[in-house]
Amino acid sequence: MQPAALAIDIGGTKVAAALVDKDGRIIRRDEVATPASPDADVVFAAVTTVADRVRADHPVCGVGVGCGGPMQWPEGNVSPLNIPAWRHFPLRDRLRRHVPDQIVRVTNDAVAMAIGEHAHGTGQGTESFLGVVVSTGVGGGLIVGGRPVTGPTGNAGHVGHVVVDPIGPRCECGARGCLEAIARGPAVVRWAVDAGWRAPADSRPDGRSLLEAARAGDPVATAAFDRAGSALGAALGAAAHLLDLDAIAIGGGLANAGDLLLGPVRHEFERRARLDFAARCRIGAAVLGTDAGLVGAAALVTDGGQYWTGGAD
Ligand SMILES: [Zn+2]
Repeated sequence: MQPAALAIDIGGTKVAAALVDKDGRIIRRDEVATPASPDADVVFAAVTTVADRVRADHPVCGVGVGCGGPMQWPEGNVSPLNIPAWRHFPLRDRLRRHVPDQIVRVTNDAVAMAIGEHAHGTGQGTESFLGVVVSTGVGGGLIVGGRPVTGPTGNAGHVGHVVVDPIGPRCECGARGCLEAIARGPAVVRWAVDAGWRAPADSRPDGRSLLEAARAGDPVATAAFDRAGSALGAALGAAAHLLDLDAIAIGGGLANAGDLLLGPVRHEFERRARLDFAARCRIGAAVLGTDAGLVGAAALVTDGGQYWTGGAD
């Protein structure tokens, strides 16, 4: 049996784990809901439970983790905005103790997604690539020269806090008019509800029911995706000019909207990215879907050093 990477993807709603072979193929995968507990150890127990379930008796050749930010990197002390129980939680150290004799590498979940798409998806073969995750928040991971750009604190690529409307809504970060304040899933749903959209009696007003309404032709639901897509297109136009990007992949729950979101993204991008070098950038959905983060987390430990820039283990 060939050893496989143990990949873990930790978000505010679920913790997923998988065994991934060196070619990026998922051998076994499982997930649990992220506990809402205020107890850091309860959340960590969910992580080890699902990780132990997938590795079972299979030999492992390292542990790669994508986790919501912000974090101290490369130390892997994490403070995910949407997991309040973890503040400066020593995730990397705790996993090292749980899986002894293995390297453990932790990165931002959006960076993991970008790595996955660069290694095996939309970004394959590109030199300059941005992966964007649009879900509860809007995250980004940046690859330049074929390697992740993390920045000195590990937080480069936060495209969600590029300002797309200087007089726009307040963002959780304290600024105004950030991409995330407009295009994060809950903000898209809130905008639709404020504009008069109502979820059917048997469902909650969330991204899923809003998408169903937009697919059925509801004009307010469609306008909500238009607005989010336009904001994304504007931010991505700025990113393309700044970084001379070859390609951008959009993933996360909201990307399930497909062309309802990507259509307005491309339309606005084309309006904004007028210089030839920026206009050539391809924009597509993340082809690995929601598994991109797991595949990228695995690549942190199976890629022979291309994707891990955090130094000695
Ligand atoms: Zn912000």
